[in-house]
Amino acid sequence: MSAPSTTPRPVAANSVWPRLEPLLPQVTKPIQYVGGELGAVVKDWDTATVRWALMYPDAYEVGLPNQGVQILYEVLNELPDVLAERTYAVWPDLEKLMRAHGVPQFTVDAHRSVRDFDVFGVSFSTELGYTNLLTAIDLAGIPLLAADRTDADPVVVAGGHAAFNPEPIADFVDAAVLGDGEEAVLEITAIVRDWKAEGCPGGRDELLLRLARTESVYVPRFYDVDYLPDGRIQRVVPNRPDVPFRVHKRTTMDLDAWPYPKKPLVPLAETVHERYAVEIFRGCTRGCRFCQAGMITRPVRERSITTVGQMVQQGLEFSGFHEVGLLSLSSADHSEIGDMCSGLAQQYEGTNVSLSLPSTRVDAFNIDLAQELSRNGRRTGLTFAPEGGSERIRKVINKMVSEEDLIRTVVTAYTNGWRQVKLYFMCGLPTETDEDVLQIARMAHEVIKAGREATGSRDIRCTVSIGGFVPKPHTPFQWAAMERPEVIDGRLKLLKQAINADRSLGRAIGFRYHDGEPSLIEGLLSRGDRRVGAVIRKVWENGGRFDGWSEHFSYQRWVDAAAEALPAFGVDLDWYTTRERDELEVLPWDHLDSGLDKDWLWQDWQDAMSEYEQDDCRWTPCFDCGVCPAMDTEIQIGPTGRKLLPLTPVNGLKLPTGAQQ
Ligand code: SF4
Repeated sequence: MSAPSTTPRPVAANSVWPRLEPLLPQVTKPIQYVGGELGAVVKDWDTATVRWALMYPDAYEVGLPNQGVQILYEVLNELPDVLAERTYAVWPDLEKLMRAHGVPQFTVDAHRSVRDFDVFGVSFSTELGYTNLLTAIDLAGIPLLAADRTDADPVVVAGGHAAFNPEPIADFVDAAVLGDGEEAVLEITAIVRDWKAEGCPGGRDELLLRLARTESVYVPRFYDVDYLPDGRIQRVVPNRPDVPFRVHKRTTMDLDAWPYPKKPLVPLAETVHERYAVEIFRGCTRGCRFCQAGMITRPVRERSITTVGQMVQQGLEFSGFHEVGLLSLSSADHSEIGDMCSGLAQQYEGTNVSLSLPSTRVDAFNIDLAQELSRNGRRTGLTFAPEGGSERIRKVINKMVSEEDLIRTVVTAYTNGWRQVKLYFMCGLPTETDEDVLQIARMAHEVIKAGREATGSRDIRCTVSIGGFVPKPHTPFQWAAMERPEVIDGRLKLLKQAINADRSLGRAIGFRYHDGEPSLIEGLLSRGDRRVGAVIRKVWENGGRFDGWSEHFSYQRWVDAAAEALPAFGVDLDWYTTRERDELEVLPWDHLDSGLDKDWLWQDWQDAMSEYEQDDCRWTPCFDCGVCPAMDTEIQIGPTGRKLLPLTPVNGLKLPTGAQQ
């Protein structure tokens, strides 16, 4: 990696740095608040017409590598008259000092106060970041409730996967953007620019109205929610005539036209990923019924092999990273993945660049790809995700993997020199019994037995990793009841005993799991409605921060807040989580259109109950999920027949303009 510059950077005119700097020696990892990374951009404040503060609501080490924020940061800063800076969640030690010394939430680029920006955009990958949103808004000096904000406050916009149901944070955000952000941020920028140029007619209300009229920006204040006496939603309707009944997601159809990041950020402090990541396709049609990302990002859109090659070359040259991740929801499914991997392996053979592919597909092809990518002698870990322990539960979740396939694949990995593989499963799935979960132990034993037999060695291991199932909006499981945490914890205990029942095999099996409590709270937030906002606020007021971190998460704090806030509405924590919904219930996100047909989702839910599998529409006829007609498009897959090599010289690529380093 390139060494950071040691030249002191000039302090921007409206910077809070002089007040922040004396606090930093008193906090952990002060470097995370300093900015100035390679790839960071500081632009002139006064000549910018629209100014964005972008946030990933977690600590710098998790937030900096986030692709979504990096892409939007670059897309916006390429515009000569637009300025975008980044802000991350500050740890509680710095929060305390900032409050004591009156230092507001700041950007790491020029240390400007977030409140001074026109738009405050927050990207949520998980709902457990909601309390960090409240901290940032409050530290910024922006009123917590959107209804209390004035024209002097930025427009707070939520995006990311959690924005597909922003109802639990409807009180705190001014707007939410559904779907891909690249074009959406440009459209929002144009609206803000015009409105400001006209002298801000009609104030904040008019600006929000203009955003709502795009039909892809949801402005909660323009919609009323009516409830039935039993607590269910009766309807969600616009409260003014000029906003749409339904808000539609944005879809960037041509990924080759958006080859970002071109100038990836190179962190100064340690982060969870330090690599150049290139998204090789977006969307997934495998149809795993629990997977919100797979459902809401349809249709499949592949990036061409030539663009991927050019992005990798340019990204590495710019950043000095030694690792490349070829990302997507199921990377081995790219129609030209074989050529892509062999081309990149050939290009970087003999260099210190390592290539990795998140490997969840359970077949020998995946091992071939991993072999190809490890030509440089560096083996990345192999992860396979059967997700369910029994054949029966895998039919329920539509994960078409047979036990035979799994064992054959893992054994191929062992015989090709891998000593360790990771197997990922979920617990708490709809219709799950103890027996389904205990099958995981049997499967892991079989994997070790077959691996020892094939390699003649006892030096092989597998790690069984278990995540808790959380039903998500816009999936066939959006109607499902969650299992209670104590049931999940009981099953995990039984599983651990079963794995260790045979000491010889058990010794070769690692076991990692999360207990059931955080999943239940994630379930409350993911399928919550506006009434859940009162719970989030109480948790935050009672000290809730960094709820995605087990050492900060307090289940009791959430249970107590729910018990305090929800009875006034005639509902409770169980009502939101362990209750199955029926077909006719109005769901809090029904007015937000992910492109999926609700009738199709319901039918797929019924198919799940009947243990009936659905094919991948990439290779079989369309099964009418609704996305392609809704977007007036179709899935975009190769093969293009093009080759990755030879790569065009980097100086032939167009670099961003208008950004000052
Ligand atoms: S509309 Fe048809 S082809 Fe398009 S994603 Fe859905 S099932 Fe696949």
